[in-house]
Amino acid sequence: MGYEVDYIPVGNGEKSGDAIAIRFGNLSGSRDEQVVIVVDGGFKESGQKLVEHIRIFYRTDKVDIAISTHPDADHASGLYEVLDNLNVQLLLMHKPWEHAEEIKNLFKDGRITASGLEDRLEKSLQNASDLEALATKKGIQIIEPFQGVNGYQGGIHILGPSKEYYEQLLPLFKACPAPAKGLGFLAPLPRLVKEGIKWIEDNFGIDLLDNDEEETSPENNTSTVILFNIDGHKLLFTGDAGKTGLSLAVDYAESQGNTLTDLAFLDVPHHGSKHNISSKLLKRIKAATAFISASQDSPKHPSKKVTNGLKKHGTKVYVNRGNSISHRHNAPERGWSAAIEEPFHNRVEE
Ligand SMILES: [Zn+2]
Repeated sequence: MGYEVDYIPVGNGEKSGDAIAIRFGNLSGSRDEQVVIVVDGGFKESGQKLVEHIRIFYRTDKVDIAISTHPDADHASGLYEVLDNLNVQLLLMHKPWEHAEEIKNLFKDGRITASGLEDRLEKSLQNASDLEALATKKGIQIIEPFQGVNGYQGGIHILGPSKEYYEQLLPLFKACPAPAKGLGFLAPLPRLVKEGIKWIEDNFGIDLLDNDEEETSPENNTSTVILFNIDGHKLLFTGDAGKTGLSLAVDYAESQGNTLTDLAFLDVPHHGSKHNISSKLLKRIKAATAFISASQDSPKHPSKKVTNGLKKHGTKVYVNRGNSISHRHNAPERGWSAAIEEPFHNRVEE
């Protein structure tokens, strides 16, 4: 079996995003010997590019599974294009509004009702509700990707979030009313605004990712974490998951006998942000190759601390920066030039 993982460029400047196409199976065989998956679609433009990419390089209109990792616009809005223009068989996405009943008592205002909350979530998480509406209109089945969901004889396995963790995070979404007292413990600490960039030295002997505190949003931590196992080659996709979401996903994988220290491929979380990974996690998640989806000229993505941290573990790191990049195994020659590996940076932002 072969596989190819394609990162389509998303956004510019501050705005990074994810638009990923994956194909595995007998890649020199016919379409029914292959599986095509889309993980997020970036913004509208990258969603259109994804559609084109799948038609040109995978020579098909059929997508077996489209996965929306979380409802943020830089991941979910382009998926609308994929659902609208290709023949999608199954959509994996969380439906926040369907959890209203379970979480309605977790708010400061005791008068919140399930239907009021449902309405509010549907209206404020427009990208996700638009996706659901389109899927329903087109008769596409939707499954919520919670821990344990799997398919293709374990070829695809959802490692996180668990339903329980998801429902802990949901009341903390910006779209929700103020949570009841004591529920804020999962929210990230406010960050100090830094004036200018201070540069510090880095080398293979030091650890600059030793901060284990949670620093990303509850929305990001609901990101679906997906493990592919293709003929023994493990590929891990992380969306914008944070340190808590990721370590819970690794805990679960390990409990299932799936170690993540021998990955062929890692999708680095949150466009390479330094707020989503720690050296503790990098000891539990090790890959031969890592890809980072970051916009061209992004000032903060990826963090040099993160790309260096990965390189300290022997991982080859590639960043798309406005180009399409492809990770391939037993895949037909495409004539693309070799991507350039991210170098080790001797100076990094503090
Ligand atoms: Zn993102």
